[in-house]
Amino acid sequence: MEKNLTKIVATIGPACESEDLIRQMILVGVNIFRFNFKHNTIDWHDLMIQRVNKVSKELGVRIGTLIDLQGPEIRIKLSKDKLTIRKGEMLPFFSITHSQIIPLLRTGQKIMVDDGKFRFVFKKKFDKNFLISDSEGVLLDKKTLNIPGIDFPFPVLIDRDFEGLHLAVRNQVDYVALSFVRTAEDIAVLRKEMKKFKLSASVIAKIETNKALDHLDKILTVSDGIMVARGDLGVEIPLEEVPYQQKIIIKKCILKGIPVITATQMLESMVTSPLPTRAEISDVANATYDLTDAVMLSGETATGQYPVQAVEIMQKTLAFNEKKNLVDSRLRFNFDVEEEYELLAEAAYGLYRSISQKKRTFAGFIVFTTSGRSVRFLARYRALYPIFAFTFDTRVADQLTVSFGVKSFKLEQQDLEKALSILKKARQIKKGDVLIILYPVLDKGTRVLGISNVDE
Ligand code: PEP
Repeated sequence: MEKNLTKIVATIGPACESEDLIRQMILVGVNIFRFNFKHNTIDWHDLMIQRVNKVSKELGVRIGTLIDLQGPEIRIKLSKDKLTIRKGEMLPFFSITHSQIIPLLRTGQKIMVDDGKFRFVFKKKFDKNFLISDSEGVLLDKKTLNIPGIDFPFPVLIDRDFEGLHLAVRNQVDYVALSFVRTAEDIAVLRKEMKKFKLSASVIAKIETNKALDHLDKILTVSDGIMVARGDLGVEIPLEEVPYQQKIIIKKCILKGIPVITATQMLESMVTSPLPTRAEISDVANATYDLTDAVMLSGETATGQYPVQAVEIMQKTLAFNEKKNLVDSRLRFNFDVEEEYELLAEAAYGLYRSISQKKRTFAGFIVFTTSGRSVRFLARYRALYPIFAFTFDTRVADQLTVSFGVKSFKLEQQDLEKALSILKKARQIKKGDVLIILYPVLDKGTRVLGISNVDE
């Protein structure tokens, strides 16, 4: 398999739940599995997390696990399985979860159902609530409902999310993603709950509401990572604005040094087709030109007919296109370079720019890290070579799986000889290769930046 630096997140679902398919998906390039709590039972997710961990252990590959909490999502509750809707008809407002919001709705409010496939206008008449349909088709029960532009005082977590947190503790999950984040306060609430559960996973804020866009800067300061959740975002804001927001969010994450996942409908047609469209391939490629850390597959792997092929095609698209990003990222981004971590990363990148062009045998960076911070600050430069991160902390190693170009290893001591031998054994480096090394000398608090070549 060709190596790629942009990471792949794949959502697990009935279409890829067997050990064999999980193994195949890892072998063709998945770095993180996502467990979407909107679907399936808690017990099913429990079993799946254990299955992923078992297979990745057998393969000796470090695979991240991400649980995606439902958050304050609204769903419709029809009295039957489906409802035929005609354009222009006025129908009684159906039951919904979070029904406490209904009295807050005003005539003229736009309502979107099933990812915007059905559009309605709310109407109040003689104290009764109606919807006037602007679309037609067969609406299925339990579909999502969005009320664009309106903020309701919903709790951040629902009961099922608490069960999810229990599960995350039991299985030592690496990332917890929160849906429908509105402000930094929502992340603070999640962190507080996680603390009660003694759960030390990284927190990923899903940006999918207008309000989150308004509060993006603050959300970035309290999150460990961001997901550009284009599915719901494309319902909450006009569709044509989504690509622009994607670029803004990715850029802000890079400047902050926190990982960003670009998500949803990247290879959507592969749910039913063995080949994607040209436009979908362009979408994956363009995410790498935006310099995302990771890209995500949802229905393509969870319920699609071609889960392994989808990962394979995504991997090839990333591997080819990411290598074309030759521009010095210091010209593209105005990085803050003040703190020690930032200074060291900037120096390492500068060294890389000068030696990688002259030394054809340049093989990447070695970083010894305690918290993963120096690794993330180096990753934000998007050098076109791997960053081999060595840490004594398994949690830190696992929480680096989403960061661009990072391959993490557990190593008890900061031992360069051992690190080199691990990399040689893993066939990541060979004799004659040149590496840049960031080496903190912990007892004195000093850090060393150096170049080394592999002698034997
Ligand atoms: C999205 O809306 O893009 C998303 C990733 O969330 P979900 O798949 O949970 O709707």
